[in-house]
Amino acid sequence: MAAKSRSRAKPKARSRARGKVRAGAGARAARPAPKERGLLARLKEGPVICAEGYVFELERRGYLQAGAFVPEVLIEHPEVVEQLHLDFVRAGSDVTQALTYYVHREKLRVIGREKDLVPMNRAALRIAKSVARKTGTLFAGDICNTNIYDPADKAALKEVERIFAEQVGWAVEAGVDYFVAETLSWVDEALMALAAIRKYSKVPAVVTLAIHKDPLTREGLTAAEACKRLEGAGADVVGINCHRGPATMLPLLKEIRAAVKCDVAGLPVPYRTNPEQPSFMSLTDPCCGNARAFPVGLDPFMCTRAEIADFGRDAYAAGIRYLGVCCGAGPHHIRALAEALGRQPPASRYTVDMSRHAWFGTNERIKKIQTEYRPKL
Ligand SMILES: [Zn+2]
Repeated sequence: MAAKSRSRAKPKARSRARGKVRAGAGARAARPAPKERGLLARLKEGPVICAEGYVFELERRGYLQAGAFVPEVLIEHPEVVEQLHLDFVRAGSDVTQALTYYVHREKLRVIGREKDLVPMNRAALRIAKSVARKTGTLFAGDICNTNIYDPADKAALKEVERIFAEQVGWAVEAGVDYFVAETLSWVDEALMALAAIRKYSKVPAVVTLAIHKDPLTREGLTAAEACKRLEGAGADVVGINCHRGPATMLPLLKEIRAAVKCDVAGLPVPYRTNPEQPSFMSLTDPCCGNARAFPVGLDPFMCTRAEIADFGRDAYAAGIRYLGVCCGAGPHHIRALAEALGRQPPASRYTVDMSRHAWFGTNERIKKIQTEYRPKL
């Protein structure tokens, strides 16, 4: 398969961080050598699954406010964050990504908790590291959209630089295996995030753009053009996360795959987006007066597990190797994705088996009086 061999090609820039991936991470003798455990080595062996979108799941569980989407839960209920990480790993995530999304200075200012910046970042990193080391998953640092980026505002650009530098710094101190810079709709902001990762760390960088209803970055570049720039600037993996569902993200992923040599990441939201409403923020619900469904009315658009499995298979066949699901994902989506890629994570112990069902079952103990009643169910 052409796409497959292309994704395995190794541009020179990619070899830089290999072998240093786990420096300072405290690997024990019983574990494989650090080189084999790093992100890039795992991507050479096969797909890497990364569960993202923690804030939506925490909101549904009642521990986070929609709108702000700041994970104050890190301080208020750290055990809930730890359990969520464990749930995603059990479902097949190869990565435990620190929940530092929206734990940056600007977002904390919006909710009046700037004083909690350091403890919240450190809590996110501590919790994720402990789960990663316990489960043998990769420990990823995370930086994201600052929401103040403005190419014409020098003061804002300085602040963006500061936000990235301090969050990268805390993650480096925590010993992350690699970085994710995500949900960035300005490619120049993404380049700034990548520059901070490159300046303060030696670990690999995954950079994923957010493509909204407008199919271009905020500067007006296609996703493929933007990813080419990111690859040129030294990103190890480039791609798209969040905002678009599988149906409207996959075509863009294919364009990116054709445009770059490095590995490509695709982490859609698990919602049924369509060509007219290609992003989850643009979805309107005909049952509710065509009101905007984002963020807490998206339930009727939720993808089934089969749809997420189809996405996983199609994306993998298209040469996409770094796969996950973003905002809206529950552990059941990650399990469906993992199983579609041939995995049997611990949660597969409970994968559906309708042969045991009271009416639809084929088990010899299911009585005829039950199966004959099926048409009336
Ligand atoms: Zn998301």
